[in-house]
Amino acid sequence: MNIAFIGLGRMGWHIAAHLMRAGHSLSVYDVSSKLTADWAKAFAGRAGISVADTVIGAECVMTSLPADAALQSVWDMAQSTLAPGAIWVDHSTTSAEIAKRLATAARVQGRYFIDAPVSGGTIGAEKGTLAIMAGADEAACTVVEPLMTAYAQRASLIGPPGAGQLTKMSNQICVAGIGQALAEGLAFAEHHGLDPRKVLDVMLKGSSTSWMMENRAQTMIDGKFDFGFSTTLMRKDLGLVMEEAHRADVSLPVTALVAQLLSDVSAMGLASADWCSLMQRQRRAQSGD
Ligand code: NAD
Repeated sequence: MNIAFIGLGRMGWHIAAHLMRAGHSLSVYDVSSKLTADWAKAFAGRAGISVADTVIGAECVMTSLPADAALQSVWDMAQSTLAPGAIWVDHSTTSAEIAKRLATAARVQGRYFIDAPVSGGTIGAEKGTLAIMAGADEAACTVVEPLMTAYAQRASLIGPPGAGQLTKMSNQICVAGIGQALAEGLAFAEHHGLDPRKVLDVMLKGSSTSWMMENRAQTMIDGKFDFGFSTTLMRKDLGLVMEEAHRADVSLPVTALVAQLLSDVSAMGLASADWCSLMQRQRRAQSGD
């Protein structure tokens, strides 16, 4: 299939690479011309010179962008050259509002827009084991599902447009609380002079185990945060969650607290570090600094 891929960051770089290896024809673009050129050189794809140029002839457009503003801007720039009938798969984490709005606009134009945020982190993108949660019309999803097998272990159509983003928000609500709980539990063990590695080892066999504990607790103990999902992006995700909760008049006390704690983490100079640097905030709070 002819695919235009836009946004070659920590996630998009790998997703596009899997699609190329699966035999698709890719035209790629990132606002960073260096990333565009590096990717095209590494995987022998076509480097687009603009969004409008990149989507020419594409049956499917895929995006992996930071947030709503970038998605809206790329969408607007693609309109002049986007083919009739094209299917747009957005792997960014955005608001459900923009997903619903673009799906409606696409339908009017005879095109499709699928909100398809992902979970599984940069490791999942690299290994091709992401989980995709989609909101879309079933017909469009059926066409692109075979593409997703190149980089995802599961792609689930949850409901109509917007349902993918609402599912991702549910995921982030769960993950946020677990991240802070891990920081508290591990820092508590350290504070009492226990060896956190031994504590972790036994907890992994007990009732508090989770993906987060399996994949992040060790790096939290080691104080390694130069990888993964940035504090800035997690704050963006929780901001989307809190806006949606406000709109629906739903109270999310734990999520609201973690969002506040993450702004402290940013203020500590850890905005681009993995968001599990919540551990450093907890350590600092416990040492009384
Ligand atoms: P990233 O910042 O590394 O990548 C985003 C890319 O988009 C960058 O290369 C940037 O230059 C490019 N970009 C920004 N504006 C653009 C524009 N107008 N036109 C073209 N390119 C543009 O972010 P990421 O970590 O790859 O995340 C991408 C999306 O996936 C985000 O919405 C994020 O919330 C979500 N996500 C990330 C992870 C993760 O672990 N990193 C996990 C799940 C979901």
